[in-house]
Amino acid sequence: MSQISRRRFLLTLSATAASSIFLKGCFGNPPERGTTGSSSPTVAPIALTSETTPETTTAKLGFIPIFEAAPLIIAKEKGFFAKYGMKDIDVSKQANWGSARDNVEIGSAGGGIDGGQWQMPMPYLISEGLITKNNVKIPMYVLAMLSTQGNGIAIAKSQAGKNIGLDVSKAKDYILGLKQSGKPFRAAYTFPKVNQDFWLRYWLAAGGINPDTDVNLMTVPAAQTVANMKTGSMEGFSTGDPWPARIIKDDIGFMAALTSQIWEYHPEEYFAMRGDWVDKNPKATKAILKAIMEAQQWCDVEANRPEMANILARASYFNIPADILTPMLQGTYIMGDNQPEIKDFQKAAMYWKSPRGSVSFPYKSLDLWFLTESVRWGFLPPSTLDNNAKALIDQVNRSDIWQEAAKEAGISSADIPTSDSRGVEKFFDGKVFDPSNPKAYLDSLTIKKI
Ligand code: CA
Repeated sequence: MSQISRRRFLLTLSATAASSIFLKGCFGNPPERGTTGSSSPTVAPIALTSETTPETTTAKLGFIPIFEAAPLIIAKEKGFFAKYGMKDIDVSKQANWGSARDNVEIGSAGGGIDGGQWQMPMPYLISEGLITKNNVKIPMYVLAMLSTQGNGIAIAKSQAGKNIGLDVSKAKDYILGLKQSGKPFRAAYTFPKVNQDFWLRYWLAAGGINPDTDVNLMTVPAAQTVANMKTGSMEGFSTGDPWPARIIKDDIGFMAALTSQIWEYHPEEYFAMRGDWVDKNPKATKAILKAIMEAQQWCDVEANRPEMANILARASYFNIPADILTPMLQGTYIMGDNQPEIKDFQKAAMYWKSPRGSVSFPYKSLDLWFLTESVRWGFLPPSTLDNNAKALIDQVNRSDIWQEAAKEAGISSADIPTSDSRGVEKFFDGKVFDPSNPKAYLDSLTIKKI
């Protein structure tokens, strides 16, 4: 557009409408590749002050192609990172959780990543050197929760008609019978000792099935889970959306339970970065957090979910048709095996707020549940819980940085939690976790490894 024709054009428009056309047409915002239907333009950058100008405009953040990654992908594609001055953020697909761990260990300077999406308590296990090469301690900071819900337990079609549902006690005799016949029920997660392992274990144990002795649990990379269900080399797997929907779509299995049924508004995956990167780049860290928070708010607008599906569907992200993603993002789950379909937006993955409060804020009480559950299954020693693990959690969980970033971003004070405790948590089987007394929770559980 020439200067003269642009000037004439602008004269005929209101200032607001003109600025959006100006930005879209003349500044060459990146096109929204592969989207269908209308897409709102990316946002304009804010004016930065000396307080908010980031130390760097780049960081490399890893993601795994499941719904939990949406805030990182949306922050990039909708221009929220750029809005806060982080115009060169690289959102990088990781082959699997082990690769993400290896990549954060070497950092972006070594060709890896500075942080990104994690199952819990991976940032703790990396910080403590429990899952790194040669047990090197790489301090990590937990900075935000990415999402709640949006995970589930899928079961192979060969197991249909055996009453394997949310209350798995109804299938206990069947599952114990498999073990007695020498062909135990096999179930997989994509990385051991983290969320998906915990959901599977919690669900089985609530039904009176000991996950360590009554079934075989194993690690299977996400990309192989569908194939393994098809070939019959496992009977179940615990994973993030959209994989369970592929099981239904390809008619190779059904859903036994959604994590939203096991624990409403449970903690799911987290955003965490290397501590040395955060310490060196405190303003850039807050800029990244502000962008993630804005993306999380955008993701929770139900009307944005079809556009969200279109963005996540792209080859560089999930590489899955948007029409498979959209129903789950809207809370529609076909459960299969003669179970009623779920149609409830409140059961979908959520990113910013839930009836339990902030989703984005990294409540320390939820970290304590993950550490307590790790003790329950013998993954961490009971001494981890001395003084309710406060020293360890205070070192890794930087809810203070989240609060500062939220204030700087002008988030309403009602949406900035002032307490690090979300209070007492309730599970579908009636158990409760009181973060002021994790040992009472452990005592209340029948099946455990301590
Ligand atoms: Ca997950």
